[in-house]
Amino acid sequence: MALYMKAAEILEKAERKQAALKTLVYDSKFANIKQLFALVCETQKFSSILEEIIESTKLIKQTKLRMPLAKVLVYDLLMGQGLKCGGSWKAAIMKHRARLQSVLARMKVKQKVSKNEDLLPKNLKQLVADQLPRYVRVNTVKTTVDDVVDYLKRDGLTYLGQASRIDDLTLKEKEFLRDMHLQELLVFSPKTDFHDHFLYKAGHIILQDKASCLPAYLLNPPPGSHVIDACAAPGNKSSHLAAIMKNKGRLFAFDLDAKRLTTMSTLLLRAGVTCQQLANQDFLKVDPEDPQYKDVEYMLLDPSCSGSGMVCLQRDDSSDNQERVEARLASLASFQLKCLNHGLSFPRLKRLVYSTCSIHRQENEEVVAACLKQNPGFRLVSLLPRWPERGLEPLTQCLRASTQKTRTQGFFVALFEKHNNAGTKVEKPVVQKSSVEAAPHSQPSRCKKRPADSEETETSEIDKTPIPAADEAESTPAKKKKRKRNKKKKTKEATVE
Ligand code: SAM
Repeated sequence: MALYMKAAEILEKAERKQAALKTLVYDSKFANIKQLFALVCETQKFSSILEEIIESTKLIKQTKLRMPLAKVLVYDLLMGQGLKCGGSWKAAIMKHRARLQSVLARMKVKQKVSKNEDLLPKNLKQLVADQLPRYVRVNTVKTTVDDVVDYLKRDGLTYLGQASRIDDLTLKEKEFLRDMHLQELLVFSPKTDFHDHFLYKAGHIILQDKASCLPAYLLNPPPGSHVIDACAAPGNKSSHLAAIMKNKGRLFAFDLDAKRLTTMSTLLLRAGVTCQQLANQDFLKVDPEDPQYKDVEYMLLDPSCSGSGMVCLQRDDSSDNQERVEARLASLASFQLKCLNHGLSFPRLKRLVYSTCSIHRQENEEVVAACLKQNPGFRLVSLLPRWPERGLEPLTQCLRASTQKTRTQGFFVALFEKHNNAGTKVEKPVVQKSSVEAAPHSQPSRCKKRPADSEETETSEIDKTPIPAADEAESTPAKKKKRKRNKKKKTKEATVE
């Protein structure tokens, strides 16, 4: 029953707009976060249909249940996995089961549909129709991609080789392939479930959305390096960092939430990670001058955000109190900027990757632009020239991800890189952009091969083109020449590690 009580409490708070659903779920301290998250998301998705069923059967009047609790119970009874509780509530609901089922059946007949999903309003139906592929990251701390592919082929799945475009990621049941951007990522049809699979339980594979694999992949810390994951729990990105570091070096991981850190500890143990040092600590209070962080050159910052990119949380906000929405985003953005500024103040830091699962400009490009202004010793690295969705103008060096364009959750990534050792003010603020820089995709990539890649493909490279200053947009031949010279010089600086 605890599951339903907690889910109802969260739905009620979310309806009162107290916080984002994801935050409420993670803050709930519930033992099985995944189960709770799935139940809350699904109930919210079907909310209007459930309400109609509940009202037309007069369930509230007859059972004295509150609406949010009635919704989760009716959802699980009619559309979910069946009621998992016992006691008086189960008895109360089961008495009305036949009527509840018949109202649902009547709704389907009336709308001439056969599936529950088809009852959803058009915008939600689209979401379901666009169901995302199931992404699986091979944990190279424990195994190799080839071994996992072989295992799955023997298990009866059909391997289609490596994808070459986004459309390839639409797969039939039992088919799978290798992603075209991330070498260690396998892609399956949306319904594929690995939660009970041996490879998952043994920590050989990690269930992680493709977009969420980008931060560690792009940061690319070498084996032996010292790395900070500033807001680390529940730890999928930390485990990815450890795999890239070949479990060698030191990975300092901080999180404010003790419960989430416990989950993280279990996850890292299962993944065979040993280079980590976890701390239940406010990252903003970590002293950059502390000698133990003196060799930290890489940092991953994935702070709390609105979660607006998470598919099941995408909803029509038009009826919300706009002022309240704006105030919440402003407060998140201010926290995110503080974390970024703090992160960049570590004395030997070379690279910092900033990511959110938000689609709001306020938490993404605006935070990055403000940070660049305040930290002129850092600039943005232009990322994956072939990635189909860029940061909003003018920050097209950054990446965005979405269900429509990249077949992933909504996401944002920026990579900061120190560009002069002294960290002194540079003449031109790096946020300025020229028309030359506006087409980073078409420029040949100049950076070296990632050590983790088995074969050199354009999509696996990071284009480290620095952002030119505003006057570089002008295009007289002399200026073009000068620009080329400067660019060469800056690129050289940018690749020195
Ligand atoms: N990077 C994680 C992963 O991939 O599994 C997810 C991080 S989640 C988006 C944000 C995390 O930041 C939450 O676990 C939250 O507890 C933590 N957090 C929030 N404020 C923090 C702070 N001041 N210091 C450290 N962690 C913080």
